[in-house]
Amino acid sequence: MTPHLIDPFARAITYLRVSVTDRCDFRCVYCMSENMTFLPKKDLLTLEELDRMCSAFIGLGVEKLRITGGEPLVRKGIMAFFRSMSRHLDSGALKELTLTTNGSQLARFAADLYAAGVRRVNVSLDTLDDDKFARVTRWGRLQQVLGGIEAARNAGLRVKINAVALKGFNEDELLTLTEWCARDDMDLTWIEVMPMGDLGNEDRVGQYWPVSDIRAQLSGRYTLTDLPESTGGPARYVRLEESGQKIGFITPLTHNFCESCNRVRLTCTGELYMCLGQEDQADLRKPLRDFPDTDAPLVSAIHKAIGRKPKGHDFDYSRQKADGQVSRHMSHTGG
Ligand code: SAM
Ligand code: SF4
Repeated sequence: MTPHLIDPFARAITYLRVSVTDRCDFRCVYCMSENMTFLPKKDLLTLEELDRMCSAFIGLGVEKLRITGGEPLVRKGIMAFFRSMSRHLDSGALKELTLTTNGSQLARFAADLYAAGVRRVNVSLDTLDDDKFARVTRWGRLQQVLGGIEAARNAGLRVKINAVALKGFNEDELLTLTEWCARDDMDLTWIEVMPMGDLGNEDRVGQYWPVSDIRAQLSGRYTLTDLPESTGGPARYVRLEESGQKIGFITPLTHNFCESCNRVRLTCTGELYMCLGQEDQADLRKPLRDFPDTDAPLVSAIHKAIGRKPKGHDFDYSRQKADGQVSRHMSHTGG
């Protein structure tokens, strides 16, 4: 029998999101500051340590692994890690190996990802306008990402687009983005901007565009059918009857999704965050490094951490300030 990880609220933890690097080739305004200081290399888990860590979770019943970052595809040697993880797909222990990427390196890696057993990728894309793309990502180039998406589709990967909903920025592209995705049979998920990191000059309350608004606007143009499926996370889905497309809404701030939460997040330094919206974390790197020959202390630390998973998060925009804000950047916990 699989020794499942069950938290104090009887939720089975079957989904692990792993940030494999804090570095990125973009500097999205809602995610990073322009001048980021990155972690010293020695603090990062090596690819071998990441493998051991993920394998331990899979041994404990984790069935879905999402690789994220920072930008996961800028981590040197990351394809070796994907290839190595594919053994868990072959054994049947892992049901899905997937990643969230900004798409900049997909043209290079799409075929290798497919060969490693990846079948779906989430690509973050907030706008189809070159100038706006350059503004929101600071360092990114739209055409490179569009080329990456095409390469991914040609390699046989199913692509889902994730767009952060930003008031006054991509509101006018709601229908354009929807139709562009529909043309290539891609689903689209809108994410409400979250109060992560230091607010700096970016006024996130001002940028807040509730996805309930997006839903209302879409229903003026399409027939929306609610889909019952849930992935245990904050996303809810509708189908647009006219295009057959699935549209997701991630509403971490306005909806309580926590009761069905099935996930935990591992940072690239081996900290396990039991909840995206809480500061509490467990250091798993120490039991991993201190005991190179046995996983028993690591497994015990994982069990202890899951035993502290909180009931829910504390994000709240209702008082017009970013309450419940946590100080780390999204690139740290991987979104
Ligand atoms: N670099 C990859 C990418 O951009 O897809 C993976 C890491 S990124 C941190 C994961 C997701 O988090 C992206 O879809 C990004 O748009 C989203 N994200 C980053 N900061 C956010 C914020 N403050 N609020 C909401 N979503 C955010
Ligand atoms: Fe990089 Fe992704 Fe953060 Fe943008 S959202 S800065 S691409 S990690």
